[in-house]
Amino acid sequence: MMQMNRDKALVVFSGGQDSTTCLYWAKKHFKEVVALTFLYGQKHAIEVDYAGKIAQKAGVEWHQMDVSFISQLSRNALVDKGMVMDSVKPADALPNTFVPGRNLFFLSIAAVFAREHGICHLVTGVSQTDFSGYPDCRDAFIKSLNVTLNLAMEEQFVIHTPLMWIDKCQTWELADHLGAFDVVRQDTVTCYNGVPGDGCGHCPACQLRREGLEKYLLMRGESCR
Ligand code: ZN
Repeated sequence: MMQMNRDKALVVFSGGQDSTTCLYWAKKHFKEVVALTFLYGQKHAIEVDYAGKIAQKAGVEWHQMDVSFISQLSRNALVDKGMVMDSVKPADALPNTFVPGRNLFFLSIAAVFAREHGICHLVTGVSQTDFSGYPDCRDAFIKSLNVTLNLAMEEQFVIHTPLMWIDKCQTWELADHLGAFDVVRQDTVTCYNGVPGDGCGHCPACQLRREGLEKYLLMRGESCR
């Protein structure tokens, strides 16, 4: 077995609200944090630039990895410029923003990468609460994959999911408690149309983010504007 550093964590880092909150969560819980950003043919490469800037601001070692083969495996609206994204989840199907196998590939690749760097702690921003119908954001999938990764590589990986049981409002609250509210609000890209910060305001990702923010600001006694 490789020599593992118990004080070090790898964050699967897209530069969005959720993974940025996780980056700051990891900084609080581990001495050393490494962020890994996957390039998979996103329509908006701006996400990747922002991810790099956030990592630099957070003082975290940052790596990018090209996994664009994922976008060649299936059609989905996140990478296919000819497809319009579902704004509401269809009743009988997954939204067309679903990238089949994405978290399976991301976490498997992250685990191999982590192992090479002597890291056993993996952090991901998936949430079952706001999972938009994506099966690979569910807790059962993450726990199952954790067991599989350990069996595959004979390491004792621990996948941390700080956002699994909280909603978008509580995610804002967590970011605030971690001292990362402004970074998350201004420097992250969650928007499906690639608009940073508060985003385009119309796409499903912006709506979810804004609803959570409004609820949180109301709780804090401020209005959104
Ligand atoms: Zn948007």
